[in-house]
Amino acid sequence: MKVSVEKDYYKILGVKKSAKIRDIKKRYRELARKHHPDTNQGSQKAEERFKQISEAYEVLGNAKSRKEYDKLRANGRQRRSNRSPGSQNESYTDPFDFGRQYTRQGPRENQQEPFSQPPFADETVMDPDMPSRGFDLQFMVDVPFVVAALGGQIPYTYEKHVTCPECKGSGLNDFEDPCPKCQGKQRVVETTTLDIDIPSGVADQYTLKFPRHGGAGRNGGPLGDLMVKVCIEKHPQFKKVKSDVHSIVTISPELAEKGGPLKVQLLDSTTTIQVEEGTLTGEEFRIPGAGSTQPWGKKRGDFVVKFQIDEKLRK
Ligand SMILES: [Zn+2]
Repeated sequence: MKVSVEKDYYKILGVKKSAKIRDIKKRYRELARKHHPDTNQGSQKAEERFKQISEAYEVLGNAKSRKEYDKLRANGRQRRSNRSPGSQNESYTDPFDFGRQYTRQGPRENQQEPFSQPPFADETVMDPDMPSRGFDLQFMVDVPFVVAALGGQIPYTYEKHVTCPECKGSGLNDFEDPCPKCQGKQRVVETTTLDIDIPSGVADQYTLKFPRHGGAGRNGGPLGDLMVKVCIEKHPQFKKVKSDVHSIVTISPELAEKGGPLKVQLLDSTTTIQVEEGTLTGEEFRIPGAGSTQPWGKKRGDFVVKFQIDEKLRK
């Protein structure tokens, strides 16, 4: 049997080094059908490709010869990496050494800012053929006051690595050249939108975790996670005090003196309250259960109207 240690049979077949014999067989059949000389009108390129595929399958399709080949390759690689720094070895360039290229500099939109490490940080590549986990992504998200108080969903747009759709993550095209879409990196950066659930009553600066919504892994490795730090936006009128919501409401001196009905904007509705006769600035009107939801609970705090008499409103 013809075995060439210099050739990467896994790449030729576009399978992972950890691929099962069954999958290697399946892949071989696909490629053989595609490149068979009979179906390619004697194309020189297809014939050459067919020969390569067959050679690769002869070795990898058999557990014994595959093991032998793996051993020879491993030794060969070690020898190559033991060479002195000055020696050129063009046949061995690591196609997976790419981590740095995706370090993102800053936010794409002002509502999103990475708050600690850049989303696509450097990756330590021990063995380029080993499965590796995708990146964990960390961002900040501005959450409207009312959404934070009562919970809700907000669409969140961010960038992450996805498995290259062109080569399905093999990094190679059918001619075993680096995939033109991902340049052999197996993954591409894609902008994606996720509807994120904001739990009711969430605290400011709390970090929400969305497992498996981070970057795609390599060589079949698992997805990373998405971490989003909540930054509650200031509200022009409302202020949260624990789970109560305080609202300063200006009233006319006449209403304060004589009392009467007053329409008040709550978090998610309006209501009419009765202003007492002789109300002074700083006095409160409490509406039980109309405030913010308590963190991780169902009970709501109170809505507290704080009156402020405004002389300009005098008729
Ligand atoms: Zn690709």
